[in-house]
Amino acid sequence: MGRRVAVLGSTGSIGVQALEIIRNSPSLELHSIFCGSSADALAGQIRRYGPGMAGMAHPPRGGAPEGVCSGPGSLRKVIEGADMVLNAIVGSAGLEASLAAREMGIPLALANKESLVIGGELLDDHLEKGLVIPVDSEHSTVFRCLAGEARPPAKILLTASGGALRDMPPEEVYRAPVERVLAHPNWEMGSRITVDSASMVNKAFEVIEARKLFPGIPVGVVVHPESIVHSLVETADGAWKALMGLPDMGVPISFALHWPDLPLAGAVTGESPTDWGTLSFRELDEGRYPAFTAVMAAFRAGGTAPAAANAADEEAVGAFLAGRIPFGAIAAVIAGVVREHRPRPASDYETIIEADAGARVAARRIMEAM
Ligand code: NDP
Ligand code: MG
Repeated sequence: MGRRVAVLGSTGSIGVQALEIIRNSPSLELHSIFCGSSADALAGQIRRYGPGMAGMAHPPRGGAPEGVCSGPGSLRKVIEGADMVLNAIVGSAGLEASLAAREMGIPLALANKESLVIGGELLDDHLEKGLVIPVDSEHSTVFRCLAGEARPPAKILLTASGGALRDMPPEEVYRAPVERVLAHPNWEMGSRITVDSASMVNKAFEVIEARKLFPGIPVGVVVHPESIVHSLVETADGAWKALMGLPDMGVPISFALHWPDLPLAGAVTGESPTDWGTLSFRELDEGRYPAFTAVMAAFRAGGTAPAAANAADEEAVGAFLAGRIPFGAIAAVIAGVVREHRPRPASDYETIIEADAGARVAARRIMEAM
């Protein structure tokens, strides 16, 4: 029997790819699926993939589709009995799922980086046991590069594509239209992370994520527009290790789902280094990315400050996508919320959720006054 995987966030960009990987792998089975509110998409996935169980967080008014559980306790119900949980829920809503996997002692393939950004401490014992396997492409790369290193490496360098607006004249970035921000040059992803890539909030989150996953190792960022090198590790003796390839989330998703084995299927893509073109690297110009700076300030403040920054960003990105605020205002909303926020130790779930809720109220107030 194969490893039974619970796919949370099954209707999203990562979730949809994971379902195909599981279907095509002889060593994986689909245990269950779970989503937010997309009842029709979930019903379609039940027909197509035949999971043992399905659930949703926010069922439509008329009730969840037949055979789909919802309401309090449904998340745990769909995780129960799984050998691995893939958490591909977007936003702070994903923390609850990561904590459930931890409590139930189930290995966690983690795409939901927000879990580590806002509630990293709560996952410490799961991390220490080696039961958190990163799905984020940069962290999957670092995870693989660290294997076989007897001495702690000198440095982790996360690569950043620079996002959709990297070549836009700086004076136009503030009012960049939604369609431009959503047109990521290299990756096809959910809307929130695509906006976060353009603002570099995503890269700031990834620095925090790397600090939690790989404690004690300095983490930097380098801009690499081609997205071929998926991050780098400088070893103790000054050499560099990296994982390379055309951008394809299938690689890190499949790696995490099969870990510690390597996937049999999909290993050979026929790709050649001659497909990559010229590779270039340049320093991150923080002046161009004030939202990056605002999230890093929250990280330095510690405690619940990153949770406040994440909630502010979720609200601001939602408002930007709805046409209520310009792109450039996202950074100001995060910075304003973080400035007001009084960090408390992020040592229990309730405190984090309270900080999240308070930051959303503050973000909405700041946006109304804009
Ligand atoms: P999407 O927006 O495409 O999908 C989000 C998924 O989360 C959907 O299935 C959605 O369900 C579900 N969801 C939303 N709210 C809830 C909730 N309250 N409870 C349960 N499920 C919920 O996001 P992505 O797939 O792009 O990203 C998912 C995560 O992976 C994010 O944390 C992102 O940062 C991370 N990630 C994504 C990458 C990518 O390539 N896409 C790369 C690296 C990391 P519904 O459809 O019902 O709303
Ligand atoms: Mg990433």
